[in-house]
Amino acid sequence: MRIVLFGPPGVGKGTQAALLYERDGLKHISTGDLLREAIRNQTPLGLEARKYIDKGQLAPTELVLELLKPALAKLGYDNFTLDGFPRTVDQAEWLTDYLAEHDAPLDAVISIRVPIGAVVDRLSKRRIHKLTGESYHLETKPPPPDIDPDLIIQRPDDQPDAIRKRMEVYRDETLPVINYYRGTGLYYEVDGLGDFEEVYARIKAVLEQAKRAGRVA
Ligand code: AMP
Repeated sequence: MRIVLFGPPGVGKGTQAALLYERDGLKHISTGDLLREAIRNQTPLGLEARKYIDKGQLAPTELVLELLKPALAKLGYDNFTLDGFPRTVDQAEWLTDYLAEHDAPLDAVISIRVPIGAVVDRLSKRRIHKLTGESYHLETKPPPPDIDPDLIIQRPDDQPDAIRKRMEVYRDETLPVINYYRGTGLYYEVDGLGDFEEVYARIKAVLEQAKRAGRVA
């Protein structure tokens, strides 16, 4: 099964992708995580990408593809949830062509919808573990007290100015991707409000629907 989880920053794509891995065995490919790993390892690609990411801008697509292509190849182009890609119509077109070349078309694109105010609040309260990248939320999933507080940090791109920029980028460059997928018969929407179990149940229902439509093996 090959799915894209789509939605604004902070909507809970990473949380849902982690559940789809634990419970359904779908591997999680997050282009944001791949980029942050490259930054942590201080690779030339990571250092270049950081100039954009910390400001809330999109990283150049060539850099993202350099990380994404091997990640897809490693999984044999199957059994994955893609999170954070595509973020532009050009990336969506690239993905369609690239997966077609590998005889591995998408089965479903699931868009998680929430009001923008709700995601801004989630992003500003998000904290991450500096070494593992594990994500917390100050109110709903606070970092465990036994973790050294110095290791719990706010992502530079979760600072207010960067959040504002990311929302603008989402509205102007990423939202049009929905129109790209609407006509394909692969596009589904789920409500992203409520706790993560409720959202997971909605995603599972959509995957069942896609299966009935004969698109998911
Ligand atoms: P995320 O963790 O998905 O919110 O991604 C964090 C940041 O990484 C984004 O704000 C972008 O700067 C960059 N990024 C992630 N995925 C992409 C992508 N598909 N294209 C361009 N930049 C990306």
